[in-house]
Formats: sequence, C-alpha cells, structure tokens
Amino acid sequence: MQRGKLQTIGIILLCIIFIIACASVSFSAYGGIDMSSPVSSPVNAGYLYGEKLSSSSTYGHMGLDFASPSGTSVYSTYAGKVITKADLGNSSYGKYYVIESTHPQYSTVKFYHLYCHMSSQSSSITVGTTYPAGTYLGLSGASGNVTGPHLHYEIRMGANSWYSQRNPEGLLARSNSNNYGALNGRVLTSSGSYARNKRISGATKGTDINYGASYSYYVMADGNPFPDESAYNVNYYIARINTGNITLNYDNGARTRSVTVSSNTDSFISDVTLP
Ligand SMILES: [Zn+2]
Repeated sequence: MQRGKLQTIGIILLCIIFIIACASVSFSAYGGIDMSSPVSSPVNAGYLYGEKLSSSSTYGHMGLDFASPSGTSVYSTYAGKVITKADLGNSSYGKYYVIESTHPQYSTVKFYHLYCHMSSQSSSITVGTTYPAGTYLGLSGASGNVTGPHLHYEIRMGANSWYSQRNPEGLLARSNSNNYGALNGRVLTSSGSYARNKRISGATKGTDINYGASYSYYVMADGNPFPDESAYNVNYYIARINTGNITLNYDNGARTRSVTVSSNTDSFISDVTLP
C-alpha cells in the first residue's frame, strides 16, 4: 500500500518534471539566429518549406527558394566555415556550398547552411575557411536538378544530413529583434493530431527578406519524414511578422483566430482544432 502510494507520487512528480521540461524547450530559441537574405530576390512564397514537391508527391520541399534569375549575386546569410564546395553537374544541388555555423543559444549544436543550384562559385572561397556573414559566394543559377533558375537555401540543424533539415522560416531572421513579432502554436486535426498539408494565412512579413506579394505559412506535407516544428511542441512558427492586430486564417477559412503581433516577442497561440 505504502509502496503503491510512493509509486503514484513518483509518477506524478515525473509527469510534473516532464511537463516543466517540455515547457522549457523554448520555441522562441528556434528563431534565435539573426540572418540576412542570401539574395536580393523575393522568396517564392508559393513553394515554402514543407510544401508538396509535386501534386503526385506527399513529400515536402526542404528549403526556401529565392526567385533569383541566373547571375544574381549570392551572399552568406551567417558566419561560418565552408565545409563543402561542390559541383554535382546536372544532378541534385548542382553547384552548391555547405557552410557550418555555431548558434548563440545552442552551444553544442552545429547548423549547416546550403546554397544550391548556383551558376558559378567564387574562386576566392575555399573549403575549411571561416567567412563572416555577407560574404560573396558566387552567382545563382539553374545547375543540378531544377525546372528553372532559383537559389535553393536550406538549413540543417545538429547534423549535416538530409534528415536534419529545419524550416528556415523560423531561423532566417530573429523574430525578437528588428521590431518584428512571431507567432507559434498547434493546428490540430479533429482527432487531436498535428494537422499537415494545410496553409495559415493572414500574417504579413517584413520586407528585408522579401516573401512576395501574398504570404501564407505551410504546415508540412503529410508524407514527409523530415523534421517540422513538432520538435518544439508546436507545428507552426511564423517569424518576422509585421506587428498589429491580425486575423489568422487556418485551412482556407476552416478556422480563424484574432491575434496581436507584438514587437520583438514570440507569442504562443492556443490550440486551433480543425473541423
Ligand atoms: Zn528548393
């Protein structure tokens, strides 16, 4: 009896510790790198991270595409060491770089920034050298497996692996600086699991990284085996939003939520359950 009681108390304590531990996995830290845009061109806002690769695929796009014409200058978004400078010819990423960075809030975690499909790579960039943010890397293009010229920009967190990718949206610039705000939360199915393959509109982005005329956040494609924001106990994280009162629109109006975007603040939105 006594032992049963102790076990019960132990389990309750473990649950409390677990809840505290989960709460302290701060998604605000997710937006903790203050990066600049790699090119002056806008992001292709219709094909964000996690969007279906094609109508016949349930896999998602693993980066952001900047709509840069061939010959657009590409600059590093963040300081780091060049660990790959390669040319895969007509396949995959074509001419691309991998630059390894540290993060001010994750001292033991490496971040990897990929710049892909370039038409030329600067001869002054050498593997093994660390460069500051804003370093000229070369020209964007259409090398590798592409349907047209663009810069595919990708971020990997913890390991330089295809399976360690992260949504650059939360990382591309701090939400809690430059007077932008950020919103994060969970959009759930009627059965309580994370919704996928849905859009969230209503937030507008700042102009220093140009998201094009109309922006909406994309919740990861349903068949994707790669990381999404669920690692942070949320499944959307919209960074660098213009401040003010807005109405978020989930899945083409299935649900709406009026929220206030506050300057330099990450705001958590209570759960939204789709019909
Ligand atoms: Zn891409």
